[in-house]
Amino acid sequence: MQRYSLLNLARHALRGNKQWRSAWRTPTLRRSYDVVVIGGGGQGLATAYYLAKEHGIRKVAVLEKGWIGGGNSGRNTQVCRSNYFYPSSAAFYDHSLKLYEGLSRELNFNIMFSQRGVLALAHSEHELEINRRWANATLMSGVDSEILAAHDIKKLVPRINLQSSYPVLGGFIQWRGGIARHDAVVWAYARAASALGVDIIQNCEVHGFQLSDGRVRGVETSQGAVSADRVVMSVAGHSSVLAQRAGLRVPITTMALQAMVTEPVKPALDTIVVSGAIHAYVSQSDRGEIVIGGGADAYNSYAQRGGLPVMRSTIAAVLELFPSFSRLRLMRQWAGMVDITPDTTPILGLTPVDGLYINGGWGTGGFKAIPAGGHTMAATVANNRPHPLIERFSLSRFERGALIDEGAAAGVAH
Ligand SMILES: Cc1cc2nc3c(=O)[nH]c(=O)nc-3n(C[C@H](O)[C@H](O)[C@H](O)COP(=O)(O)OP(=O)(O)OC[C@H]3O[C@@H](n4cnc5c(N)ncnc54)[C@H](O)[C@@H]3O)c2cc1C
Repeated sequence: MQRYSLLNLARHALRGNKQWRSAWRTPTLRRSYDVVVIGGGGQGLATAYYLAKEHGIRKVAVLEKGWIGGGNSGRNTQVCRSNYFYPSSAAFYDHSLKLYEGLSRELNFNIMFSQRGVLALAHSEHELEINRRWANATLMSGVDSEILAAHDIKKLVPRINLQSSYPVLGGFIQWRGGIARHDAVVWAYARAASALGVDIIQNCEVHGFQLSDGRVRGVETSQGAVSADRVVMSVAGHSSVLAQRAGLRVPITTMALQAMVTEPVKPALDTIVVSGAIHAYVSQSDRGEIVIGGGADAYNSYAQRGGLPVMRSTIAAVLELFPSFSRLRLMRQWAGMVDITPDTTPILGLTPVDGLYINGGWGTGGFKAIPAGGHTMAATVANNRPHPLIERFSLSRFERGALIDEGAAAGVAH
């Protein structure tokens, strides 16, 4: 792997920047691998990277039907935090945040991780009480959290309107929360995995599975059959469709979740502001765009575009909180297909088919979990038993009724 360093930047600049090698290889698909990972989003690529790096399993292919990062990993609003309500969730997401804190250095790629604080607003006494309970639960799990009064919020976010139709009574913040550049996270894992020998195959769709005696033997793809004893499904909004091809029914529904950005402006907002009650969250990207996200569309869909009503209500909510943003022009709007489980907790681990693993059900929150999802899934595949951090996130929890209801702790109630 060609190292990115100040010295190398200077060297290449002197040569007109014409000798940089491709960040990752473009290999041809082999007929057999030790592990096939389906889906070239952040989760799939991180799983492949940790398989190679931590478990020495390097005969790994990541099969992506489009281009890497073309799914949700390149479409999200980049929020990273670990202030989840239940201890098992907080432990898992905090593991992810800690990995994010060292990721640029580990992968030798600037992922632009910026810990600028994620602030959740409370618009009523009741919501403030819920926030206190949530913040205390988070602290009990060893994750940082602080309740802020309305005047503290005004100091932190001077542009906010505390007296709108949705008055702000207070809120709570995780200072270690922040954003990372989503494409960079995908590219960083792809580059590092490729350097360790992982084959990343783009434009290669998996159509089905080769199964016999209750176990997986390989996959059928648009580029022919590939044999592998271990296969990971890491396909976000396509999880239920793909799982069905292996004869599995998973409790996942797919909906469009949209986001939008304004034209870029000078630094105006250096915190991420979330309002669960009015379904909006807002931050400013390093390029200066105001990044806006809202709730999921209210119906199932596989179309990668969102409906107008959600877009309009999200903008209306943001303008209540930030009236000065009404002067900005909206530049782009897009959507991704999110895979939502009944308890809004992901499904990670083994399936009833031997050798077939699932990494899905991230819903609206799997970007922040890319390092931990990849790390724990790699260990699960290598040892054929769930990593302790994801034991409770298994598919079998739905048979046992052992749900982990994180619905109320989602940034925005979906
Ligand atoms: C608008 C929006 C905002 C979001 N905001 C946040 C946020 O702020 N913070 C956060 O933590 N999360 C957020 N998320 C969720 C987050 O983006 C996802 O949970 C995360 O990216 C999931 O990663 P993944 O690798 O599993 O999925 P993806 O990146 O979607 O990757 C799955 C890949 O599988 C490929 N694929 C599908 N079927 C096949 C097949 N049959 N064969 C081969 N390849 C296949 C797809 O093309 C895709 O590239 C948001 C999502 C959206 C849409």
